[in-house]
Amino acid sequence: MLSRSLLPTLLTALALAAPAAAAPALDADTGPYTNPPTAPATTPVSGSATANPLVAKLWAAAVRYWGGAPASCASAGVSIRLSTEDPEATGDADEAVYNGWVYDDDLCTMYLNVRNESWPIRARNAELWCQIITHEAGHMLGLSHSRNKRHIMYEGWIPNANPHCRAFRPKARSTRRR
Ligand SMILES: [Zn+2]
Repeated sequence: MLSRSLLPTLLTALALAAPAAAAPALDADTGPYTNPPTAPATTPVSGSATANPLVAKLWAAAVRYWGGAPASCASAGVSIRLSTEDPEATGDADEAVYNGWVYDDDLCTMYLNVRNESWPIRARNAELWCQIITHEAGHMLGLSHSRNKRHIMYEGWIPNANPHCRAFRPKARSTRRR
């Protein structure tokens, strides 16, 4: 069992009401639920007053992908936190293995790795983080990993798995002559 000995910095507190997720559609390679959503509810994203509006939009795209927020988090709320405590890092201070993660014993809290090379979340990498947050939201719904490389729950880079994330793709600059 992973411990959470470090206090992660609270990233965001979002009063985002969303419908509860129906059972996510799974492919044959996706692992079973460990904590299936049970009751319909609205789920706020709770946290500090330092809400990050961009992260709020990314979370909303994840909720759209799954058809709702995790119903099992209806009472506790969903938190998105920052952490340097990468559960798979071996001790090297600069090592970053995961982009984000969710612990088995608290499926309502998502951690984003501030040591990741893609940190911080900005407009130009928001699409990437949208996919990451969507993947972690799948863990919040109790899903494990898929062996299907095109599935959002594949444990790796999944560039277009959530089509709602395309809204965050930077616009291509027009080449103008001067
Ligand atoms: Zn994962």
